[in-house]
Amino acid sequence: MNASVIEHFKRAGHLDRMFIGGEWVLPETLARVGVVDPSTEETVAEIALGSARDVDAAVAQARSAFTTWSVSPVQGRALLLDRVHALILERAELFAQAISLEMGAAICFARSTQVPSAAQHIRVARDNLTRYPFITHRGDMAIVREAIGVCGLITPWNWPLYQITAKVGPALAAGCTVVLKPSELSPLSALLFAEVMHDAGIPPGVFNLVNGNGPEVGAALASHPDVDMISITGSTRAGVLVAQAAAPTVKRVAQELGGKSPNLILPDADLARAVPPGIAAAFRNVGQSCSAPTRMIVPRERLREVERIALEAVSGIVVGDPRSQQTTHGPVANRAQFNRVQEMIGIGIAEGARLICGGAGRPEGSSRGFYCRATIFTSVQSHMQIAQEEIFGPVLAIIPYDSVDEAVEIANDTVYGLGAHVQGHDLGAARAIAARIRCGQVHINYPAWNPHAPFGGYKRSGNGREYGLEGFEEYLETKAILGSQDAPAAPTRNPESQAFDESNGL
Ligand code: NAD
Repeated sequence: MNASVIEHFKRAGHLDRMFIGGEWVLPETLARVGVVDPSTEETVAEIALGSARDVDAAVAQARSAFTTWSVSPVQGRALLLDRVHALILERAELFAQAISLEMGAAICFARSTQVPSAAQHIRVARDNLTRYPFITHRGDMAIVREAIGVCGLITPWNWPLYQITAKVGPALAAGCTVVLKPSELSPLSALLFAEVMHDAGIPPGVFNLVNGNGPEVGAALASHPDVDMISITGSTRAGVLVAQAAAPTVKRVAQELGGKSPNLILPDADLARAVPPGIAAAFRNVGQSCSAPTRMIVPRERLREVERIALEAVSGIVVGDPRSQQTTHGPVANRAQFNRVQEMIGIGIAEGARLICGGAGRPEGSSRGFYCRATIFTSVQSHMQIAQEEIFGPVLAIIPYDSVDEAVEIANDTVYGLGAHVQGHDLGAARAIAARIRCGQVHINYPAWNPHAPFGGYKRSGNGREYGLEGFEEYLETKAILGSQDAPAAPTRNPESQAFDESNGL
């Protein structure tokens, strides 16, 4: 099945290319990196690695395109996003195969979740664009919201397409032009995305893709004097480096970083309803989600009951070949991640946490591939390393509490503040607890995913918000125009932009 993704790239001839200024161009250097299939540990393709010089070329194109794209009509931008959305769905199977191959997602999961939810960010950006009041009035003052400029977008490998669309969709909708640097560990879905942009008819320079690693290409984007905003999703470590590199040019920095999200089960919760979805959420995408609720905080007197239900729920997880229809969970995405998970399981055991399933090593029957065992530690104490650090793998910590106040204290007891869950019968009480948790998003009793909900971190989980209206507004500047009784009714368009739109069918 994966052969067809690779065949696609061989036919398209894009593996050794960057997408800059509307064209597939060769990079400045000959550096290459292998794409490793985590289920076999074999290199299945090689992609070209860009350099700081490719970043310069891409930023120059984005800068030049900004003049016209930023003032292009809303309808034109909306039409383009419609086409991007439709093309992602039309090519969903190819995207699903690429994601499964590059980071190991079970094909069923890639098809049912990774790809459709990624497409949603484009639709939401389009809808926000068409409804957005770019000009409002306050007395004789006009408040104008304008595109911030050229945006550098740096994305991770765990939800590779989803993280790309969450940035590119609203940035383009707002009128920004972009240079995307996806993770060097998941470049295939990003290349497919660039093909979609090309085929949707993106005007040259509005969207550019430079593959490459963080320290060279990512850092060059972050420090570039002609980039107005840098948005990174990744580890807190990389987020800090990006902010440092961006500081001298005073650009806007948006950071979506790590997490260690709590799932607080209140004393009145129905455990049969509260625990199994918590297990599913903690292990979804093999635990490689920044907002995965990896700390289940439970009443001490109900600990044994929670453990029994958790063990039953985890027994439904089928770890195996991501290409098999029966597999629910593939391998973790890469060797570094595999080693990290193994190390943290060892640390949990050494710290004295009680292991009730899983553990170190590969699951029985697998001798290669980055497969990990679904692992649950219980009687975990909040100060332990496995309760404090993001593991980013299939490892859950169950932490008992004696009072609800203590539970809230535990929930807030990490440097992170990305997501949280609260389970309880009394909704009023659950909402009161939600208000006390220091994080960007709280889910009460497992509501359905809502792509309009702003997402982002308190504390070291980041700055700024993605998704929905707030995610769109991140890409806007605010201009106050004072002293005119007749505040402008619409942004002025220059004649160049009119010609540009017409020539691009917008
Ligand atoms: P990572 O930090 O290693 O890499 C993320 C991206 O940053 C990659 O594109 C990488 O090349 C780039 N990068 C690395 N060093 C850089 C540097 N010095 N300058 C510029 N760019 C640099 O993270 P990862 O391993 O790809 O992803 C896992 C991490 O991402 C986890 O910590 C996870 O919590 C976080 N994450 C956060 C969110 C969120 O929305 N908060 C979502 C997904 C993942």
